[in-house]
Amino acid sequence: MVTRSKASLDSATGVLPVISHWIDGRAVEVTPEKTGPVFNPATGAVIARVPRGGAPEIEAAVAAARRAFPAWRDLPLIARSQIFFAYRELVWQHREEMAQLITRDHGKTYPDALTEVTRGLETVEFACGLPVHLAGMNTPNVSTNVDAHTLRQPLGVAVGITPFNFPVMVPMWIYPIALMCGNTFIWKPSSHTPGATQLQAELWKKAGLPDGVFNVVYGGSEAVEAILDHPGINAIQFVGSTAVGRMVHERGIISGKRVGAYTGAKNAMLVLPDADMELVADSAISAGYGSAGERCMAQSLVLAVGDSADRLRPLIEERITRLRIGPGTEPGVDMGPIYSAEHRVSIIKWIDRGVAEGAELVVDGRPFRHPINLDGFFLGVTLFDHVTPEMTIYQEEIFGPVLGIVRTATYDEALTLINGHKYGNGTAIFTTNGGAARRFELEVDVPMIGINVPIPVPAGYLSFGGTKASAFADLQTRGEDSIRFFTKQKEVTVRWPKPGKQGPLSLVFPSNN
Ligand code: NAD
Repeated sequence: MVTRSKASLDSATGVLPVISHWIDGRAVEVTPEKTGPVFNPATGAVIARVPRGGAPEIEAAVAAARRAFPAWRDLPLIARSQIFFAYRELVWQHREEMAQLITRDHGKTYPDALTEVTRGLETVEFACGLPVHLAGMNTPNVSTNVDAHTLRQPLGVAVGITPFNFPVMVPMWIYPIALMCGNTFIWKPSSHTPGATQLQAELWKKAGLPDGVFNVVYGGSEAVEAILDHPGINAIQFVGSTAVGRMVHERGIISGKRVGAYTGAKNAMLVLPDADMELVADSAISAGYGSAGERCMAQSLVLAVGDSADRLRPLIEERITRLRIGPGTEPGVDMGPIYSAEHRVSIIKWIDRGVAEGAELVVDGRPFRHPINLDGFFLGVTLFDHVTPEMTIYQEEIFGPVLGIVRTATYDEALTLINGHKYGNGTAIFTTNGGAARRFELEVDVPMIGINVPIPVPAGYLSFGGTKASAFADLQTRGEDSIRFFTKQKEVTVRWPKPGKQGPLSLVFPSNN
């Protein structure tokens, strides 16, 4: 059993739990005035209070992380790895509890939440074996009696700022690699989904991670601004919306930090007339409405070439009639509620706008009410047809269960639309023609591509990241790119002259001949 913090013990007594920051290996309690509500989106009830941290909490976390850094940096790689193996096992043992907490705070279905945990673990597992990737290069004989080698060293204190929609998987893209590279870490999670955050901090402690190596500070813009300006922080990876990510990138870079920001999206799947339309319809439903469309890799646009729209639309409509919407804890439910009441209203406004702009509203999700959970943040699924590139529902991220069909005459027209879109995160092509698929992967200006795969999130040991307004970063996150991101490289040139063979004194710039 994990020793739960006071927040969880309180919940057992029926008192509203107060989540704690996690600094220097322990829960830091806060006064109720410095907290905000956490909702269960399926019921609309307030289920906990979450701290609103700011500069003082960031200061304390940076101090703890800096104190812990030298010993963590110098710990033998295999000892770091052993802590990681222990953490991996603990998360695996607690995966069901973690998934329940995700479903409770976010609203996504329990099976979806469980997959989130196991997909996140892929990157933890990758990090367990990171020592081999931290090897430098050695080049003997770069000059007479001179060899060269490279070192990879940690940067110092790294920060992860993460969104509400994947409270386990997205942070697990960031902290395993930051930590295994020898950095200490501060996590600034979303305040909407704190349950699984708390559990991750507690499991690190149980796995034997030294105090101060992993810290959690909750909060909004005040906490993030304190992070951006703090001179004791060396690197930030941000995942969240484009507006905030752009600001984090600009301000973080100006204050001398290494910053990667992975941001919003509007993904499109291109459907050729030769595609298997049953597969396309299943894929459109799953990628458009899974997790209520609250995924950065959701496919919210279907670019249907030629007559494929006419054949596809009835198949999608028929599947929509079979979808079950309800609390994510209920077996058999396909789609849970929207994560917040405000976001539900914002999605409804986008649907209103699509109607006003002239898109054909085929299925209207706005009137849906859950028969029992009347105060839950539920919304039905929406299908638009005849969406055109001038419409804002084509251009902007809605981040809800709204799918739009765009009709194009040719492959080239559809490709030009994808490449001309301001976002570029994920995309997919559906076809039975290998040549067409090959052409697409070479020509499309989007880095994460599916071929008959609707949600092409690369495996956890590969890199992940978009382009254009979907990323403000020189490198992707995870995988090899993240190892580069979280380390600095040194080039060492070494001379060991043969005994008694010291060269003559010379002021000439050294030649390697
Ligand atoms: P968000 O930008 O509102 O929040 C992300 C983080 O920034 C949170 O920790 C939040 O507390 C903080 N934040 C929010 N407003 C801030 C402000 N004004 N100043 C400073 N910090 C602020 O994003 P969200 O709503 O939590 O998540 C949804 C967004 O994340 C979508 O746009 C989605 O596409 C994107 N996302 C992108 C990826 C990716 O890999 N590209 C993955 C998941 C989600």
